[in-house]
Amino acid sequence: MKNVLLIATGGTIASIQTEDGMMPGLDGNGLIQRVPALKDICNIDTLQLMQLDSTNIHPAHWVKIAHVINENYSKYDGFVISHGTDTMAYTSSALYYMLENLNKPVIITGSQLSLTEEGSDAPDNLITAFTAAANGPAGVYLAFYGRLIQGNAAKKMYTENFYAFHSINVPEAALLKNGKLSFNPDYTPYTSAQAHYNKPLTINDCLDTNVIILELSPGFRPEYIRAIVDSGCHGIILKTFGAGGIPGRESDLNLLPAIDYAIKKGIKIVAASQCIYDGIHMDRYEVGLTALKHGVESGEYLTTEAMLVKMMLELGKK
Ligand code: ASP
Repeated sequence: MKNVLLIATGGTIASIQTEDGMMPGLDGNGLIQRVPALKDICNIDTLQLMQLDSTNIHPAHWVKIAHVINENYSKYDGFVISHGTDTMAYTSSALYYMLENLNKPVIITGSQLSLTEEGSDAPDNLITAFTAAANGPAGVYLAFYGRLIQGNAAKKMYTENFYAFHSINVPEAALLKNGKLSFNPDYTPYTSAQAHYNKPLTINDCLDTNVIILELSPGFRPEYIRAIVDSGCHGIILKTFGAGGIPGRESDLNLLPAIDYAIKKGIKIVAASQCIYDGIHMDRYEVGLTALKHGVESGEYLTTEAMLVKMMLELGKK
């Protein structure tokens, strides 16, 4: 049997009811003991790295998780990270970009209901995650609702529905059927495309966290962008309208001079869409093309979660 390390970080999956509301209370061993079927999949060791609602997880925790994987890399065939669902897509994107030359599975999972609640989705999600960590593809994947999603393509779509995560603009990687992973023929594993497959794992952990995701709304005032620039921000993921529209007409609501102000100060602006699917196409409409000409970059097909991490890493290199 393969050896898999569970890195436990908290989340609903590990939560218990308290006077102050649900909060993490079960440790990694407690999770494993409550799902006896896991013992038939692989040998499991556990490491309790933190015990947090994922609301409180931030970039320093991504770095911690990445380093723990690195420190234990030679000892295990794969890794499972149990994590809260609310910021799981950020952590999965972070690990996707931070773990370079990865040739083992790193699978992140959680659940909508705690393992202690009746009818919880936690046992199924853990079974999917450990099956993938023991026998799945190399790379960072999110396991949920019987599915594997490439780490930088996941987005949380529901607060309660068990089909909580969708794979955005990338086909789902695999489905768990009768205890086995069935790979989607339309999905191309990203690790096999890595030229450096035989190189040692490298942790890319220089993140510039002075980055914000900013969502436009009708009537958005240019002063807001200027205030963010003056606050010391180094990068903005700008959630624009539709295919990439940024208002540039009414003089007091024209955002382009504020964008020029930001770009002149060396601030990177990457446009995302407020739509979930189909990416951004800034060269289609005048309202997007003009913004491109002012120096706004296109985030293409990535999720905002992935864009945020990518920007932190790009700015961290400088
Ligand atoms: N608030 C929880 C968390 O993100 C939600 C969950 O895990 O589903 O930690």
